[in-house]
Amino acid sequence: MDIEIVKKIEELKRKRKAVILAHFYQSPEVQDIADFVGDSLELSRKARDAEGETIVFCGVWFMAETAKVLCPQKTVLLPEQNAGCPMADMVTPDDVHRLRAEHPGAAVVCYVNSSAGIKACSDICCTSSNAVAVVKSLKESEIIFVPDQNLGHYVSTQVPDKRFILHSGFCPTHHRISPDDITAARAAHPNALVLVHPECPPGVVSQADFTGSTAQILDYATKSEQTAFIIGTEDGILYRLGKQNPGKQFYPLGGSMVCSNMKKTSLESVYRSLKDMQYQMELDKETISKAAVCLNRMFSVS
Ligand code: SF4
Repeated sequence: MDIEIVKKIEELKRKRKAVILAHFYQSPEVQDIADFVGDSLELSRKARDAEGETIVFCGVWFMAETAKVLCPQKTVLLPEQNAGCPMADMVTPDDVHRLRAEHPGAAVVCYVNSSAGIKACSDICCTSSNAVAVVKSLKESEIIFVPDQNLGHYVSTQVPDKRFILHSGFCPTHHRISPDDITAARAAHPNALVLVHPECPPGVVSQADFTGSTAQILDYATKSEQTAFIIGTEDGILYRLGKQNPGKQFYPLGGSMVCSNMKKTSLESVYRSLKDMQYQMELDKETISKAAVCLNRMFSVS
């Protein structure tokens, strides 16, 4: 069954002149049919530089929106219409305008995990890979960081000379991890290094051996001479870690970390997406042009 549907996807991909992008958090079978698998920063670059006429984005809503902002002339498809991001939904443009009014001299930095509307009213975007570099590049000494309080806090520890105003958003998948989970995981796997994503709470990040984006965690584990790792980010990365590092062991932190939205996409929905050309991302011209300024400013830094 899977072989049949993969064949149909390949045929439709040629017919639609499509490229399939998948986030590291997607399920293994979806990662395997993608032309490129990566983290938010890599996928934004791939979307920007993609050839062809159609982009199928196997991820969540804000990722497909970002691709549309970067390639407005292309058709961008999100296979699962209801694949959203609870953290992205936690901040509204009104929140950003209110924070700007309260802190008139501050620069607004938005995490890429936000809507195009938030990008359109922010000064610069960042991903978890480049957030520290983005903030360091700014002349403003005061930073409004939206929406992830945990990534914002992590960046504040790396750039201590700036003052941060953090929005209260968080990723439910990462925010539920506690320092006790690290203690239990280290007891179960005493020789393993703990690698976590900066969307985890500060008490978890401070106890980890390494903190980085999914791409940075992958790179760290691949280059490390250690052979066992406890991974504190969404479980989808475990597939890629294992594939790229046969012979090394990877254990999920906190038992398991699953983003149900990231797991909505299936081979069936990718097939339907290409067959019916759904669900197409649509944004108004003003939002595209303002959000593009915010994203391109990030690309000029990193
Ligand atoms: S893992 Fe967290 S930040 Fe990423 S899409 Fe899921 S809810 Fe959003």
